[in-house]
Amino acid sequence: MKKLIPAVLLLALVLTSCSSLRAEKTADFFAMDTYMSVKYYGGPDGESEKLETAAAELEKKLSVTKEDSEIARLNRDGRAKLSGETEKLLTGALDLCRETEGALDVTVYPAVRAWGFTTGEHRVPDKDEIDGIVGKIGYGNVTVGGGEAALPDGYMVDLGAVAKGYLGDKLAEILKEDGVTSALLDLGGNIRAVGEKPDGSPWRIAVRDPAGDGVIGTLPLRDETAATSGGYERYFVDEDGEIRWHIIDPATGYPAKAGLISVTVIGKDGLRCDGLSTALFVMGREKSVSFWRERRDFEMILVTDDGKILISPGLSGMFEPEKGSSYSVEVIGND
Ligand code: AMP
Ligand code: MG
Repeated sequence: MKKLIPAVLLLALVLTSCSSLRAEKTADFFAMDTYMSVKYYGGPDGESEKLETAAAELEKKLSVTKEDSEIARLNRDGRAKLSGETEKLLTGALDLCRETEGALDVTVYPAVRAWGFTTGEHRVPDKDEIDGIVGKIGYGNVTVGGGEAALPDGYMVDLGAVAKGYLGDKLAEILKEDGVTSALLDLGGNIRAVGEKPDGSPWRIAVRDPAGDGVIGTLPLRDETAATSGGYERYFVDEDGEIRWHIIDPATGYPAKAGLISVTVIGKDGLRCDGLSTALFVMGREKSVSFWRERRDFEMILVTDDGKILISPGLSGMFEPEKGSSYSVEVIGND
């Protein structure tokens, strides 16, 4: 009997450690105007507070509406000291603005604000107002370096198009440092996978139907981000019945209408995926396809306003269209 006790204890110990690895844990919180939901395996039980704090700290630096954020101060005073993190983010976002030739433009904020997307008090600005605003858009006029940034008069910066992609990577790092080997972080439009599911199969995520309530299909995800930009996320219908959404073409100051209603970008770098999903939405189908062909360092799903789903070749056999869906799926040719 005496000898049996340690064996029983050992067994109990092994069982608890196995079950704690297998048990799904969750962390749900609200940040950046978004309901964020995380499921993970391994690591400590209650990660909610830690993740929420990290998200809130980033929001405190970047928010355009919180008066004392670094970005709000930059927008108000035309000059501000930046923390290392904000400087890194702004520099990374500006690189993407250049790479996308201004389809992504961190200075589009005066337009976003004029259409009422910041406050929810939606309106259609008149042509004169838009013309004035377009004259104050141009990422090339932002100077950043040495722990500070500066803007010309009337210019304003908004990192909303890349912040959640960056946050996904940041929260994933926190979880990994705490011993989590398997997690799925849903940050509303940005999904980040850590590892794969505990059974060794990849995470599978659903891509929302931008024109309805359902989904257009699912795809596997391992240690990557899938960032989606969609017209359906924030929009209003104006007096003429036209849908006006929150993704703005920096060249015109009007909501981007280039034939796409949703863009998903899949890749290793969250900030890049998030920035590119917004930029490709602005570029439209043809330009997005050429942009992809010149790089091929990410995967993408484009949903067109005429009912097509275009996928990059790397997703062929991976993306599983929803059964009975009315969309037709095409694989983008290599040239
Ligand atoms: P996302 O949901 O990642 O596509 O980001 C959209 C948000 O980025 C909007 O709510 C705006 O705050 C901002 N935004 C809209 N259009 C652009 C643009 N062309 N370039 C950069 N930021 C944009
Ligand atoms: Mg984005």
